[in-house]
Amino acid sequence: MHELSLCQSIVELIEEQASVQAFEKVTRVCLEIGALSCVEPEALAFGFDLSTRGSVAEGATLDIVNIPATAWCFGCNRTVDIAQRGDDCPLCSSARLHVTGGEELRVKELEVV
Ligand SMILES: [Zn+2]
Repeated sequence: MHELSLCQSIVELIEEQASVQAFEKVTRVCLEIGALSCVEPEALAFGFDLSTRGSVAEGATLDIVNIPATAWCFGCNRTVDIAQRGDDCPLCSSARLHVTGGEELRVKELEVV
């Protein structure tokens, strides 16, 4: 499962931060997930539960912030919302779009003690 290995790298990152910043426990993890990142939030939550066991993030609350997919339209010269990669511009139907947002997958915030 893609989400599980993803969670494992997130936990690795958190453990790394824990030793750098000397915190003992993470109480909340806030993740930003772009609409184009192909991550299933439910699978992610499940993987997070499994991966954090025995780590500093065990029992931490997982907050998921969904980032909408956006693209720059060369027809409209503005940023537009898209549903998925390869979509045409919803405003002018141009196919000349450059994806600018929605691919992110990162730890936005950690609440630690
Ligand atoms: Zn357009």
